[in-house]
Amino acid sequence: MPTYKAPVSDTLFLLSDVFDYAKYANAPGFSEAPIDVVEAVLTEGAKFVEEIIQPLNRVGDLEGCKRDPAGGVTTPKGFKEAYKAFVEGGWVGLAGDPAYGGQGLPTFLSVLFNEYANSANLAFAMYPGLTNGAVAALMTHASDELKARYLPKMTTGEWTGTMNLTEAHCGTDLGLIKTRAVPQGDGVYAITGEKIFISAGEHDLADNIIHLVLARIDGARPGVKGISLFLVPKFLPDANGEIGERNGVVCGAIEHKMGIHGNSTAVLNYDGAKGWLVGEEHRGLQAMFVMMNGARLGVGVQGLAISEVAYQNAAAYAKERRQGRSLKGPVEPEKPADMLLVHPDVRRMLLEIRAFNEAARAFMIWVALSQDEARLSPEAKTRQAAEDRLGLMTPVLKGVFTDYGFANAVKAQQVLGGHGYIAGWGMEQFVRDARIAMIYEGANGVQALDLVARKLPKDGGRAIMAFFGEVSQFLAAAKNDAALAPYLGALEAALGHLQQASMWLSKNGLADPNNAGAGSYDYMHLLGLTALGYMWARIVKAALAKKAKGESSPALDAKLTFARFFNERMLPETGAHLARLSAGAASVMALPVEAF
Ligand SMILES: Cc1cc2nc3c(=O)[nH]c(=O)nc-3n(C[C@H](O)[C@H](O)[C@H](O)COP(=O)(O)OP(=O)(O)OC[C@H]3O[C@@H](n4cnc5c(N)ncnc54)[C@H](O)[C@@H]3O)c2cc1C
Repeated sequence: MPTYKAPVSDTLFLLSDVFDYAKYANAPGFSEAPIDVVEAVLTEGAKFVEEIIQPLNRVGDLEGCKRDPAGGVTTPKGFKEAYKAFVEGGWVGLAGDPAYGGQGLPTFLSVLFNEYANSANLAFAMYPGLTNGAVAALMTHASDELKARYLPKMTTGEWTGTMNLTEAHCGTDLGLIKTRAVPQGDGVYAITGEKIFISAGEHDLADNIIHLVLARIDGARPGVKGISLFLVPKFLPDANGEIGERNGVVCGAIEHKMGIHGNSTAVLNYDGAKGWLVGEEHRGLQAMFVMMNGARLGVGVQGLAISEVAYQNAAAYAKERRQGRSLKGPVEPEKPADMLLVHPDVRRMLLEIRAFNEAARAFMIWVALSQDEARLSPEAKTRQAAEDRLGLMTPVLKGVFTDYGFANAVKAQQVLGGHGYIAGWGMEQFVRDARIAMIYEGANGVQALDLVARKLPKDGGRAIMAFFGEVSQFLAAAKNDAALAPYLGALEAALGHLQQASMWLSKNGLADPNNAGAGSYDYMHLLGLTALGYMWARIVKAALAKKAKGESSPALDAKLTFARFFNERMLPETGAHLARLSAGAASVMALPVEAF
């Protein structure tokens, strides 16, 4: 059975030493969360996920969710009690608005806690995760009346939320949505249609489920500009805000799927269900984007979360399992064989995962802090810079983290050899659970397109130029630091590759959009790797500063080695990405349809 220990001390090192958390001490929104509060919340959160939800991970996978003929869905044994404890512990509303019963802590803290929760039990963590996304969309776009009616119970997690975009004929292309909304007067709409693949769409964890549904008001124009967003509760609240009459939405089926069995993936049939408009008519996609952007970051974090838990279990196995001898002769001659960790190739696999995990955690914190800065900073310049960073890095975090998440789960499984393929060890569940993160919330190819077609050119390339500037400044400032300099060569080269790729795209992408499309995936990974390399440079700087102050520990020294490994063996992939991208679309688009 796999185990999990939340990496609290690593998170705290990154926050305090790499991102200088002390500088936020008096910033608006952060004053409630000095570092000792952050530490207490993370330590308590780690304990909660390790003791309460991680033990349910395998049960959830084996049992899955079950739908009864009336459309009710039962979650796996133990989920209901664990969810109750989750709500009572205040974990859903960690960053929620105190006006609605939240704890008012900065959003980044909830992102950090989410990593732990997803490592412990990804299928379970999706229920509160989606609720938080729905709350964010309602906070930004709902009327005061809707907020007052729904947010108090959603913020605490007593009622959960969902996100309803997908229909059978319409996944990526939301312009094809057919679900109808017919005005009934008094701001009420009758919603009719079928949504598929709705995560947490029906379950027994909460008394009510609040669906956020994209639909087309009768007579609206075709395409995405004719879509509106509606709030459709499973039960209509009565005058006191308690559960009232059942609304016209039922779960027609749940999907049998590759992984995340503990999360119900529902077909929802809306038959004249009462819905209320969120935001303006025909601008539903803008309103839903609040939820989608949050969900993209949340799904990216799932990639890191699975990578971390898979690593922990593979590393533990590699210390126990004995096969063969070290290439340089027996390390433990008294034993029948040496441990797996003596083999360079086993180390390679583990190091590739670990070197991603630590830098990815830094990347996640960097982006999560930007989320708070974009919302809370009193300075317009800081808000804008944070908003730019968040916009640029959201598709990267989603696409790159989830690609690595799956690849790393497979690598960790490989460390266990045949035992990794056997269910009892839990590694094959990580592989199956990690796979969906590359697909939902916008498949990764679509994240890459969003990056290249929308985020790069936005505001004349301001966001990517700011990233170039930030990394260049870091490199220039560190040049004369004799201890740090040896860690920077690969980053400098990667930055050069990224700049060349950006120039190539701005020239050739305009001339032929297929050049941008064909190069987008490589660009996303090139930017992701460069950002991870930048994170390693910052981690090394912080680690060296600690050592210079006389602090020394094997964990600190190990960070320097992980950074070196990343620079020598992972970051140089940016060169291959540049070469592929600048080959253009010719060979990609040459063949006629019949040739496939
Ligand atoms: C377990 C699970 C849970 C889900 N949860 C939810 C949920 O809670 N709410 C919800 O609304 N949806 C949910 N989804 C749906 C999910 O978001 C979609 O499956 C996903 O967005 C892709 O849509 P699709 O499956 O229709 O694939 P398609 O849109 O048909 O795409 C197929 C492939 O073509 C590529 N592609 C499509 N269009 C383009 C393009 N223009 N350019 C380049 N490549 C393109 C895609 O990248 C993909 O690889 C869930 C799906 C699953 C399996």
